[in-house]
Amino acid sequence: MTIEPESLIWEDLACEWCHSTEYEIIVEGPDLQTGFPGTFQMVRCLQCGLYRQAPRLTWKSLEQYYDVTYHSYDTFEVEKLNWFKRIDKRYGPWKRLKAIEKYKSGGNLLEVGCGTGAFLEEALRSGRWNVTGVEPVKHAADFTRNKLDIPVYTELFGDANLPNESFDAVVLWNVLEHLDHPIDNLKKAWDVLKPGGVLVCSVPNLDSLEAEIFGRFWVGWELPRHLFVFPLHTLKTIYQGLGFNWLGTRCISTTYGTLGTTISFWTGSWKSKHPWIAKAFLALYWSPVTRLLLVIPLWVLDRFEKSTIITVFAQKPEIKY
Ligand SMILES: [Zn+2]
Repeated sequence: MTIEPESLIWEDLACEWCHSTEYEIIVEGPDLQTGFPGTFQMVRCLQCGLYRQAPRLTWKSLEQYYDVTYHSYDTFEVEKLNWFKRIDKRYGPWKRLKAIEKYKSGGNLLEVGCGTGAFLEEALRSGRWNVTGVEPVKHAADFTRNKLDIPVYTELFGDANLPNESFDAVVLWNVLEHLDHPIDNLKKAWDVLKPGGVLVCSVPNLDSLEAEIFGRFWVGWELPRHLFVFPLHTLKTIYQGLGFNWLGTRCISTTYGTLGTTISFWTGSWKSKHPWIAKAFLALYWSPVTRLLLVIPLWVLDRFEKSTIITVFAQKPEIKY
């Protein structure tokens, strides 16, 4: 697929949260994942600290940067993998479910941006949750609906006609930063949650060691698909402004894959000079030995909340009579 730079439409919007137009540029660069045209910039609002792309592509233009091979839409039959890969694929969703169940032990669960359904499958398999998905990418939504025999809305969360106060948990795994209007989506999450229901969002962790070491190559920036990056203190202000109770944060995502993406972005910057070294470096990273060697360091990063992805738990308050 090719994208004509002249066909792209840009917009320059004020801060989504505080509406200030004053900002400083933090990161500037191309799309390191697809190599599609354009130079993008992530800026920090001088008033509230929220990071956003400014200027940014309109949603119509940006859609083209979600290549059909985008990683969230991998379709695989877990049953057909060998036992090691099967455990590996299920470990992440299992750990996420356990983390949610610290706050809610079961009920109705909605996943916004469910992709090909790996997490919903785990929740369904537990027998403790009735699950529903929202996924605007049709082939991923169809795959999940057919595979799990559950309702999946093939549209944007904002457009989905979901009953108010009907879910015990609403989860967005690595989704909030992709949305063109995340605040509106958080308001929608509020509407569909029952009082006492929990909102679970994982987002790129600006305080991660990976962000510090790799700078502009950090996968958390992922220009141009990440329209926002949320410092935790700003996200806390936003949540409290919307009425949510902040329950806490945890690093629970398996981040071997995301670190690999960051490393491929970084090697990409010097690959043309030393192609063989770059290739060997990446092959070494993706080897089972490195995978095993990194288990403990990545676990330590999780414990200190220094991993590249952090999960935020919040609650819509119970009604007090
Ligand atoms: Zn702001």
